[in-house]
Amino acid sequence: MLTKGDSPAVREAFRLALERAGFGPARPESLSRIRVSSQKNIVLDDKLLVGRELLERCGVGSAEGLRELLSRLAPTAAAWLKRVLDGAPGQVAVMPLTELDFLGYEASGEERPLGAFVEAFKKHHEWYSSELRCLLEARFAGIVPERSSGAVSRALCEVSREEYVAVRTVGGAWVFRCPCGVSAVVSSQGHVQVDKRGVAQLEQDKATIVNLAKSVWAEKLSRDGIVDSAQRCLERVRESLAGYFYPAAVAKKVSELEALVRNLRAGNLVVRGEVLAVPGPQPPVRVYEVKDYLCSTLEEILNAPKVPAGEIQGVLRQAWENSGKELWEEVRSRWEALPELCKIMPLVKNAYGEAAAFAEQWEKGNLALQDGAVLMGGRRIAPPYGDNALAELKQLKQRFEFQASQAVSPQASDIIEAALRFFMRHPNQVGATTAAAILTGSRAQKIVKEGYTKLPEYGLLKSRCSQRKVVEVISWLTRQGLLQVTYKGYYGLPVLKVSGPVAELLKESGAVLTTTYVEEDAVPKAASRKDWEVLAEMAGQGVFAARAALATAAALWPSGKAARLWKEASAE
Ligand SMILES: [Zn+2]
Repeated sequence: MLTKGDSPAVREAFRLALERAGFGPARPESLSRIRVSSQKNIVLDDKLLVGRELLERCGVGSAEGLRELLSRLAPTAAAWLKRVLDGAPGQVAVMPLTELDFLGYEASGEERPLGAFVEAFKKHHEWYSSELRCLLEARFAGIVPERSSGAVSRALCEVSREEYVAVRTVGGAWVFRCPCGVSAVVSSQGHVQVDKRGVAQLEQDKATIVNLAKSVWAEKLSRDGIVDSAQRCLERVRESLAGYFYPAAVAKKVSELEALVRNLRAGNLVVRGEVLAVPGPQPPVRVYEVKDYLCSTLEEILNAPKVPAGEIQGVLRQAWENSGKELWEEVRSRWEALPELCKIMPLVKNAYGEAAAFAEQWEKGNLALQDGAVLMGGRRIAPPYGDNALAELKQLKQRFEFQASQAVSPQASDIIEAALRFFMRHPNQVGATTAAAILTGSRAQKIVKEGYTKLPEYGLLKSRCSQRKVVEVISWLTRQGLLQVTYKGYYGLPVLKVSGPVAELLKESGAVLTTTYVEEDAVPKAASRKDWEVLAEMAGQGVFAARAALATAAALWPSGKAARLWKEASAE
């Protein structure tokens, strides 16, 4: 048995055999890709080249024996091996050598294979051919294929005793090869051994037949004028729809027709029942019914209801002038009134950006007709277009106002500013709790021990608010994306720094940042206490939720205090 240690001798045996056959590798060092594996197989690039079983069957027990076996390496196999070695690893697939690849065991005149062996091979050949013939009949459907391709020959071959070649190997197996190319190894027990190369050949033959049928059909369909009539039909359809809005069902028909034309051109057919059909439409159209399909589809599309795009544009322009513009102005002025800090909050900014993009496209009348639907600013608008465009903008406005209302507050602006400036100066040093302790002037042991009492920010908010309140505000700032968490040190302690846009803003404006924080329940609290003055104050500062609460109260009790305050607030 060959072992790993025989690798150099094995390589030498291959070199000799290849050179003798006239297929010496271009670079002798490429032979180093061959070695004996620990499983005692000969491998190339770690892929099986000569299996241990084959070596055993052929009685190879040493490098010497291998040299003898390789001296009978068939020229085709030697040529293939040279291609593998001359190419980069993986460029030419490595497949195991089989008995078929070795010559020299040709039976002498009187030594013929047993009848059972011949029968086994014939059965294999018949099976192989019938696999291909089924495919051939289905795919060619009556067209007689030319016999030029090897795959077609193998499909139509009828093996006869006179034609095949039988070769006996040392192990007593017989190798049969039909001139059409079908071959098989019949073991000494009379079983057909299908190796990887045999399987690969069948798959390859099937693919060849499918491709051959495709090109034959593409040519026939084009010769019969079917491709042209389908193309003309598609062009008429496109012309008739250009510049119109049309229903989704029509859009579907058009894309089906497009697929049909593509498949006709490529000869891409499928077998439907017993008949070939062109995929694209649902169900695929039988190949002899394509002309009928084209006529009916054309008629259907020409008669479908459609609206000129110009008309829709007019409707939308009118709607913009009537109400869209005004609504957008409202959104814009609210945005402008927001404190700078609020404008850089990602949620607020994104919500406003979406509304702005939509309004811009509407104002410009930039609409696209895609598959028959109206697209404006990336949004689908269904009829009635004017009302739906307005509804869309209203929804965008609400989303923006909701995000802004989460961010605006009359209180806590000094806490926000102190916290942001603190983390600006001391980025990635401490987390929320420590920062709050420093800002409120805590005397906790840790704060004193770490020397935080010497910081200029120490006690900045002392006696103005509780430490808990500051922690709350810092958490809120983090949720809004104004502070960023990173994890520091071995224990991964969370520490904070200001986000990029905040740093810019703080660098630009040395001034106070005005308001932003809203206690999440400040408005509902005031509303439930019927504290209308507080609500009116908040409303005056632009808290939308407070405005909404006050307006609702005014509507509910038109003669009450809320109504009076609301009137004053809205008059401002
Ligand atoms: Zn044959």
